[in-house]
Amino acid sequence: MLGLSHLAGNLPAADAGFAMRVPRGFVARMRHGDARDPLLLQVLPQLAECDLVAGFVHDAVGDLAARAAHGVLHKYHGRALLIASGSCAINCRYCFRRHYPYAEDVAAAGQWRQALEHLRRDPSVSELILSGGDPLALTTPKLEELGRGLAELPQVTRLRIHSRLPVVLPERIDTPLLAWLEALPLQKVMVLHANHAQELDAGVDAACARLRAAGVSLLNQSVLLRGVNDAVDVLAALSERLFAAGVLPYYLHQLDRVQGAAHFEVDDARARALIDGLRSRLPGYLVPRLVREVAGDGAKRPL
Ligand SMILES: *Cc1c(COP(=O)(O)O)cnc(C)c1O
Ligand code: SF4
Repeated sequence: MLGLSHLAGNLPAADAGFAMRVPRGFVARMRHGDARDPLLLQVLPQLAECDLVAGFVHDAVGDLAARAAHGVLHKYHGRALLIASGSCAINCRYCFRRHYPYAEDVAAAGQWRQALEHLRRDPSVSELILSGGDPLALTTPKLEELGRGLAELPQVTRLRIHSRLPVVLPERIDTPLLAWLEALPLQKVMVLHANHAQELDAGVDAACARLRAAGVSLLNQSVLLRGVNDAVDVLAALSERLFAAGVLPYYLHQLDRVQGAAHFEVDDARARALIDGLRSRLPGYLVPRLVREVAGDGAKRPL
């Protein structure tokens, strides 16, 4: 598809158990002929994924232990997270859920019934987070069904959607989806996922503008990735570009130590130095919080 499988060090396009997958529009934002392109590096399988590195495991963040019901992860106070969908429009090579057993554990599978039942029993949950996989990989009718179920839960006042689709496939932010969001009687937050300013183009700007017009607050989370965004200039440009699109930087995640992703890791000392560099040149609201997810913790851990 990319005509790049001849590059040294790449796996044959077939994968490493996690297929290469990338929308055409995202490919179009790559710099052609540049093997170090930061968008390409996020999606192209590398031989290094086959290395077994000590400390890099299948379930890096304790998700399997935190399953509260079918497709529900309930680790933090007041927020329950639904594994709404097992699929994504893009397969990011560093993905912390590349080994997650989605087939058996997706909340949408049983018409959301078990997930909603879990919420009904817990009055402390005021925010429902749709994650995945990518929840916007679900059809809009499927999301509407969830919206109807949520309407019966008075304690849930916020819906948060974690999605990479507005960035990698902005066409997904279509009129029916926007109509659903606009009509939802909840506060709405969408946490996008972009790692490099080059991922944002006019199509992404338009999708963000339409989401905001539908009453959705926009935040962004990134993963700190060696060779992709581990430079102060690159991170500063990302924050500025996000803000130009109406999106506030939220988290910069230290990589989850998932098997096959070790070649993307940036050590904690460098990560802190990068954030200090950002702090010295950007307004505070454009500096994302540098965090790591630690299995068993009650919140993301600041570094
Ligand atoms: C990251 C995460 C959340 C959200 O955490 P915030 O700090 O509120 O963004 C909620 N539940 C789970 C299981 C998570 O992994
Ligand atoms: S979009 Fe998110 S969940 Fe999907 S592969 Fe990329 S990082 Fe993983």
